[in-house]
Amino acid sequence: MTADIHAEHADEPAVDPGSTIGIIGGGQLGRMLAMAAGRLGHPVIVLEPSDPCPAAQVANSHIVAAYDDPNALAELVDRCDVVTYEFENVPAPSAALIEERHRDGGPPLRPSARALEVSQDRLVEKQFLQRIGLSVAPFRAVDSQQDVVDAVEALGGRAILKTRRFGYDGKGQVRVDGAAPANAFEQLGSAPSIAEGFVDFDLEISVIVGRSLRGDIRTFAPAHNEHINGILSRSTVPAPVSEIVLDAARAAGRQLARELEYVGVLGLEMFVMSDGELVANEFAPRVHNSGHWTELACSVDQFEQHIRAITGESLGATGGRACVMDNLIGDDVDRVPALLEEGSWRVHLYGKEEVRPGRKMGHATKLL
Ligand code: AMP
Repeated sequence: MTADIHAEHADEPAVDPGSTIGIIGGGQLGRMLAMAAGRLGHPVIVLEPSDPCPAAQVANSHIVAAYDDPNALAELVDRCDVVTYEFENVPAPSAALIEERHRDGGPPLRPSARALEVSQDRLVEKQFLQRIGLSVAPFRAVDSQQDVVDAVEALGGRAILKTRRFGYDGKGQVRVDGAAPANAFEQLGSAPSIAEGFVDFDLEISVIVGRSLRGDIRTFAPAHNEHINGILSRSTVPAPVSEIVLDAARAAGRQLARELEYVGVLGLEMFVMSDGELVANEFAPRVHNSGHWTELACSVDQFEQHIRAITGESLGATGGRACVMDNLIGDDVDRVPALLEEGSWRVHLYGKEEVRPGRKMGHATKLL
């Protein structure tokens, strides 16, 4: 284990066993966090406007309200000992309100508002990753069609345009090969965006990192991620790259967690080039889809690791077995009877009633 003690949280005590955890967001990540919290004896309150929602099915209480509803946030803060989140688009004013209440004796927000601020804006995120010494694709801020034309030219004609905010699973993106289409900026909703040089990578990997309140850091084995239509389809662990590259990926994850003074679990996505160089793409300040395999292959999974971190407990061991995890997206859920019959797949469904194309319904993991 890499011990990496920072002083910034040294005066903050662990929350008591049995204390209540608030989770902003009620999707499958919140659900799996709530399950891990429950195992460690923590009641969970979910703040989520959708009712029903996957997390509320396994939580103790559900505040049905918008993420930026001040009364709901006040209630959450009053009823919880620590607040966390399961998605990166938590409104900045909500995070600020919780941190302000913390200064007056309310519960801490872990991870911090700062982690949200960096990850919510692709330009800020890229600049941050670069500043802490990670390689990133060349990028330019674009705020008009003329900017797009100039940026694509500067980036050699092959680029990916991405909105700075609210992009996920490949949404809010335009690929350019040659001249930028005349309506490229319009296709981005005329929103502040970035243009990134196209990276000719060999494969995509991610590393899941946990950092405790005391500054201990542990990384899970990097996974190889394959996407279909921009959505993660399969993660294979360990990623089929050299030990040197695996170590470099873990080191990049540690560096990011350290520099953010992070408390909790995060996922860092990277491209692996043919020479083994790593190019950081983006990170998520939360448990990550490419880490769901840890529930089967490791003694302590990413969800428990996050709960341990935010409650001020010690991190768990991250060593594990080789495995493959398949996302069950939309109609993939029809595979469930066969997966169950095969016997060795651990199937995890999220309790979503309606099957929709592109909707993450569950995942299944198998040891290799
Ligand atoms: P993102 O939303 O940034 O995760 O991008 C979605 C997917 O687009 C990634 O998983 C990659 O497969 C691809 N992609 C993103 N950025 C680049 C890039 N600069 N060069 C090549 N492919 C990229």
